[in-house]
Amino acid sequence: MNFLEERIIKDGIVKPGNVLKVDAFLNHQMDISLLDEIGHEFHRRFADCPITKVLTIEASGIAIAYPVASAFGVPMVFAKKSKSINIDGEMYVAEVESFTHKNKNQVVVSKRFLGPEDHVLIIDDFLANGCALQGLISIVESAGATVEGLGIAVEKGFQIGGRVIRNLGYRLESLAIVDAMDDETGEITFRKQD
Ligand code: 5GP
Repeated sequence: MNFLEERIIKDGIVKPGNVLKVDAFLNHQMDISLLDEIGHEFHRRFADCPITKVLTIEASGIAIAYPVASAFGVPMVFAKKSKSINIDGEMYVAEVESFTHKNKNQVVVSKRFLGPEDHVLIIDDFLANGCALQGLISIVESAGATVEGLGIAVEKGFQIGGRVIRNLGYRLESLAIVDAMDDETGEITFRKQD
């Protein structure tokens, strides 16, 4: 087991509805040394890519994307959830359905912070059905920038997102892939990775 899988076993809580709660170390209280380790691990895995920006989505992606951007020495940009329908022409826009809140949000990134010269590493905390990642990919593509890869802390391998993103041909690295979890026993099974 790697460092993140060990921490999930120790402090993660399986909730009904296929939700894994990690608020003791990632989503509410944040373990800064664990986040630094995550940053270094993604830097190691994507060291061959000419990353110029790290892109994530508010709010929970920000904590993961920050140490990754710090390790690469590049800016981090986060897509903002926006209620307003009248987005001016200064924004890239995508529609994202929230897995945890079951509502749809427009997410926006200012055109000032992403352009055709950028090589982007997309980062998020969780991958479930892949809506958040697909929204971020579409924003990068609207900007004419290049998606170099996608990095996820926890992929729920029993949901379709990982398969969809990999089938689209993107390089997707997940630090922990949960293949099964049981909210009655609390048992979590990880996919074996190299
Ligand atoms: P997707 O768009 O892939 O369906 O869902 C990904 C988003 O939903 C992530 O940005 C994350 O914030 C949230 N999410 C999905 N599943 C979980 C989960 O099991 N636990 C937590 N804490 N967040 C989740």
